[in-house]
Amino acid sequence: MAKKVAVSACLAGKNCRYNGEPKGNPALIEKLEKQGCEIVYFCPEDTCFGTPREAMDLTVTDEGVKVLTKFTKIDRTGPIADYAQKFFDEHEDFDLFIGKARSPSCGVATGKLYDEEGNLISEKESGIMAAEAKARGIKAVDDESLIEKKSDDKM
Ligand code: SF4
Repeated sequence: MAKKVAVSACLAGKNCRYNGEPKGNPALIEKLEKQGCEIVYFCPEDTCFGTPREAMDLTVTDEGVKVLTKFTKIDRTGPIADYAQKFFDEHEDFDLFIGKARSPSCGVATGKLYDEEGNLISEKESGIMAAEAKARGIKAVDDESLIEKKSDDKM
């Protein structure tokens, strides 16, 4: 049976990144399509805040880890978390989640975490959307971890 895969929409070349510039991963998408995967795309940030928008960072605050806008320090955590819950409630039975590496929403094990002074604390965090996938027991990986494998590897 075809695998059902949740994939960050920007990896398919959609101009939904914060600055509206494309940064797709065509080799990965081609590989998934060749394998007959059922792909469901998502983009919490474009849906919640539109494009272009101010970039965001995972940030440690007194109230835990939040997604704050880079310069204006607005807390964007709630809408992203709500989007993630709704997305996974509506689309069940995923075999795999593939998130855009280093995104504070979609990165799986590559998210950067800062303190409130802007100091880098970690580069191995999960974004809000990826964390929700993992909490639901869905296997989750960063896009860059897959495309380094040989093209005939199964996902
Ligand atoms: S990394 Fe996630 S939130 Fe950012 S543009 Fe891609 S799909 Fe949207």
